[in-house]
Amino acid sequence: MAMIFTPKPTPVVEIAGTDDTFPVNRIYCVGLNYRDHVVEFGSDPDEVDPVFFMKPADAIVANGVDVPYPPKTNNFHYEIELVLAIGKQAIKISADQAEDHIYGYAVGNDLTRRDLQMEMKELGMPWDTSKGFDKSATITAIHKASDIGHPKEGRIWLSVNGEIQQDSNINKMIANINQIVAKLSELYTLEPGDLIYTGTPSGIGPVIRGDIMEAGIDGIDTLINKVV
Ligand code: MN
Repeated sequence: MAMIFTPKPTPVVEIAGTDDTFPVNRIYCVGLNYRDHVVEFGSDPDEVDPVFFMKPADAIVANGVDVPYPPKTNNFHYEIELVLAIGKQAIKISADQAEDHIYGYAVGNDLTRRDLQMEMKELGMPWDTSKGFDKSATITAIHKASDIGHPKEGRIWLSVNGEIQQDSNINKMIANINQIVAKLSELYTLEPGDLIYTGTPSGIGPVIRGDIMEAGIDGIDTLINKVV
């Protein structure tokens, strides 16, 4: 038996300091993982827990590559996030085992059609069309944990056209890195190649064509993409 067409190549992310690449399997995302963002999102941080959702692997956009303004939205938002790269299968692991399964870290932007998300939120319906669309996940190179360790704190920020819009610290996450990996490993079989976007702090807002989004996390990397 033969495949009836040639499958698309597996999306990959560069690995910093090497000529190697990280083949992407699944992209998991955490929503509502910073208290100040939960408040600006219109929810009560004492009433909601962080939520999980996914994007397709081919939503990846590399650092420096332009992002097309997506269709069917008039409110296209940035969300700066710490990204984990899974390097070893994880099934029902505990939080204190999580670091053994993390290959490295990157800086990512969970791009969002906010108008569609708010409509779906209002209806109590899934967020998929607002989150899992084409080219909705920008990302820097992955930095190996064996090079940079497992970051527990550090400034996380994003600017649009040079003006700071988001400015927080990754130590303010509600569910920390290890808890996120443990929790996801109860819901799914985490595999090498999985990426996890870990949620955004407050300051979310819109971008339009021509805007430059620049973002970073201290000790990891800086991410720049233009909206076209
Ligand atoms: Mn997000």
